[in-house]
Amino acid sequence: PPKMEARNVDVFYGAKQAIKNVSIDVGMENVTAFIGPSGCGKSTFLRTLNRMNDTVSSARVTGEITLDGDDIYSPEMDVVQLRARVGMVFQKPNPFPKSIYENVAYGPRIHGLASGKADMDAIVEKSLRRAGLWDEVKDRLSESGTAMSGGQQQRLCIARAIAVEPEVILMDEPCSALDPIATAKIEELIHELRGRYAIVIVTHNMQQAARVSQRTAFFHLGTLVEYGDTS
Ligand code: ADP
Ligand code: ADP
Repeated sequence: PPKMEARNVDVFYGAKQAIKNVSIDVGMENVTAFIGPSGCGKSTFLRTLNRMNDTVSSARVTGEITLDGDDIYSPEMDVVQLRARVGMVFQKPNPFPKSIYENVAYGPRIHGLASGKADMDAIVEKSLRRAGLWDEVKDRLSESGTAMSGGQQQRLCIARAIAVEPEVILMDEPCSALDPIATAKIEELIHELRGRYAIVIVTHNMQQAARVSQRTAFFHLGTLVEYGDTS
């Protein structure tokens, strides 16, 4: 079964409707790409999948979105927990102004995932390995996460998301601020993460969608106009 199912979702900002009747399934086996022109609602819809739009006071979401069958907009849903289960990576890498180690350890500590220092060390190493960053940073874990290259910072943000054991990872134009070599590394990483996490990537770049995804959702003026296998 799909990890996340969205059914007949509408999103409004005040009176303005940004998403109109969108239904989608997000699975572990496929990377899903959201594509379409600027302003078509890709980012808005992505943010409804982990309730990031809750921070926008005018935003209102209707319809149903489930994670493992649980309605993520139900009053019982713990939003802090939800955002660990559905991680997010932004266009501009945004590591905390803290050490590389602390960037990765922070989430597991908040969520009580480590039972001691050795356990935390293991979580940090595993997360950095999965993000393809371990070999580059293992001798400088106490250096600042913000002192690295943009591509390394973005992989650190991916490691930070991975550290809290997400089921879904949402990426909002994760390569837009990166050079071509760093972009290629992130695309390679997305291939490696496929199957372990359900991945959704927003991109305005059709070639990138073709390279990294198996499913493509094409948005236009808030509507899903095409949805199917990436061709
Ligand atoms: P992008 O094209 O990368 O999504 P935008 O420039 O559209 O970036 O948006 C940047 C920020 O401004 C986002 O947080 C977005 O939610 C917000 N925003 C975009 N359009 C509006 C708007 N019409 N009114 C208020 N905030 C907006
Ligand atoms: P995309 O990610 O495809 O560029 P967005 O989801 O950012 O599109 O925006 C979809 C529409 O919603 C746009 O018309 C944008 O101006 C509007 N919008 C986005 N964020 C806000 C916001 N915080 N407040 C009001 N309108 C917004």
